[in-house]
Amino acid sequence: MRFTLPELPYAKDSLAPALSAETLDYHHDKHHQAYVDNLNKLVKNTSYEGLQSLEDIVTRAPQGPIFNNAAQAWNHAFYWNSIKPDGGGAPPAGLAETIEKTHNSLEALKEEFTAKALANFGSGWTWLVIRNGRLSVENTSNAGTPLAMGATPLLACDVWEHAYYIDYRNSRAKYLEAFWSIVNWDFAARNIQAAAVAR
Ligand code: MN
Repeated sequence: MRFTLPELPYAKDSLAPALSAETLDYHHDKHHQAYVDNLNKLVKNTSYEGLQSLEDIVTRAPQGPIFNNAAQAWNHAFYWNSIKPDGGGAPPAGLAETIEKTHNSLEALKEEFTAKALANFGSGWTWLVIRNGRLSVENTSNAGTPLAMGATPLLACDVWEHAYYIDYRNSRAKYLEAFWSIVNWDFAARNIQAAAVAR
């Protein structure tokens, strides 16, 4: 199999009480695994079979099953890194300054992110990205990913119901509240540095 499920970067029970081990059992071992398995089946005997990375597929494949499964495989790997045990708190200094410049305060950024995540209709993702050199909060639907939309992702929040139904049932709001207690600002700061170097 060309693509494999990446291991979680922490123990399954270490995000509790924000996210339970049971949620990670389903979300990582079943949902994320299924996207990887589907992708491996779908690329067989296609021009995508020889591509080395999910990024290569996501940026080249037209809308359809191959794009959807590759993008979901990539989005989920990115999401697992966007959260961590004992996350939350304040972003590292450089990122904190950028946030203050574009959003005036961390609280204002979190409010915008939460409002957009709540308004993201149906299944999708809410992202902190760099677009045209500026920090921006953006929604995508279904498997949509900033990688294929000209922006550099810094953080992802999965707002598909499968991300929160076990722990919070229908309450996306409660899930988002918990998200801020496990958000991985260090990961966002590393991504912003990589983006700055790339420009
Ligand atoms: Mn998901």
